[in-house]
Amino acid sequence: MIQSHGYAAQQSNTPLAPFSFTRRDPKDRDVVIEIEYCGVCHSDIHSTRNEWHNAIYPMVPGHEVIGRVTAVGSQVSRFKVGQRVGVGVIIDSCRTCPSCRNDEEQYCEAGTTLTYGAYDRYGALTQGGYSGNIVADEHFVHSVSTKLDPAGVAPLLCAGITTYSPLRHWNVGPGKRVGIVGLGGLGHMGLKFAHSFGAHVVQFTTSESKVADAKRLGADEVVISKNEAAMKKEANSFDFILDTVSAPHDLNAYLSLLKRDAAYCQVGLPDRPPVINMGNLLMKRRSLSGSIIGGMAETQEMLDYCAEHNIVSDIEIIPIQKINEAFERVLKADVKYRFVIDMASLKQ
Ligand code: NAP
Ligand code: ZN
Ligand code: ZN
Repeated sequence: MIQSHGYAAQQSNTPLAPFSFTRRDPKDRDVVIEIEYCGVCHSDIHSTRNEWHNAIYPMVPGHEVIGRVTAVGSQVSRFKVGQRVGVGVIIDSCRTCPSCRNDEEQYCEAGTTLTYGAYDRYGALTQGGYSGNIVADEHFVHSVSTKLDPAGVAPLLCAGITTYSPLRHWNVGPGKRVGIVGLGGLGHMGLKFAHSFGAHVVQFTTSESKVADAKRLGADEVVISKNEAAMKKEANSFDFILDTVSAPHDLNAYLSLLKRDAAYCQVGLPDRPPVINMGNLLMKRRSLSGSIIGGMAETQEMLDYCAEHNIVSDIEIIPIQKINEAFERVLKADVKYRFVIDMASLKQ
């Protein structure tokens, strides 16, 4: 077994603390990665605090992993020792169902294996990237361009693909008026991508202090969502809205902003369901939808797109020892715009 060290939650109400564990020795198709950076996703907070009621402890969170390959199994064809690579939210799926065969492993009919907090096909509890190393099947490992800052790339593995995929699916581009709700980790990547794809982008935020940043990140307009009059002015004007908010909020105020036949896509996953005024959907044949991360081929496509267009996440680097403070700041929407852990700090 491979020794690993990281930070884990032992229960839903305990802070993350140092934790030692083992990972499997690499099998034929496995890649062993020494982790350099790991992004801090709001899902890590929902998960470690058991807000989705499915937590398994001890839990080492982290699914925005960047590192260097230190060993490969005998059948690995895409990676070499020393190469910089990334691992995201899932590390396995059945590979045979229609979704898997269609490169949509995130919708695997047999269920995916999450990077942490799940049992893998060998019966072991998966542990995530707030740690020194990780072992994963090469199908779930991505190559990362050396042109980009590796710390800024880490959040692309979840926040990046989770916003890229629905924006592509709903054909966001020139001539489309698109809303991004919430300017956090996912929101700022959604804003960068929608702007890069050529859409007219309106950023919705509850934080007046983020208006200038939103414009710098690519917003053509910024609406303070707490301002009812400003919200009403936007009625019936959007082709697509992507909602990245992590806490319960009123969706009706946004659904009424869509044009006829337009879609509202939820990627944020608050711990309580919304109340929907059905009139907002049926009066204009609007649809309310959702999306989760992206498939492995699309994740690689997104990483390659970012390398070509010089897109990375705006980050604040922290040592692992500051992780509990970072969680508290994320909960206050006080992050510009993703915390990334420098894993070298594990050795301190
Ligand atoms: P985050 O960095 O905390 O950003 C969330 C943003 O939502 C905040 O910055 C804030 O933006 C806004 N917000 C927070 N509380 C709010 C409230 N009560 N009312 C209105 N707006 C509020 O979180 P994240 O890492 O981007 O994750 C966002 C959500 O997506 C989480 O629920 C996470 O679990 C989920 N997620 C889903 C997927 C997927 O595959 N679907 C993948 C990753 C994460 P403003 O300050 O601009 O208002
Ligand atoms: Zn995530
Ligand atoms: Zn499958």
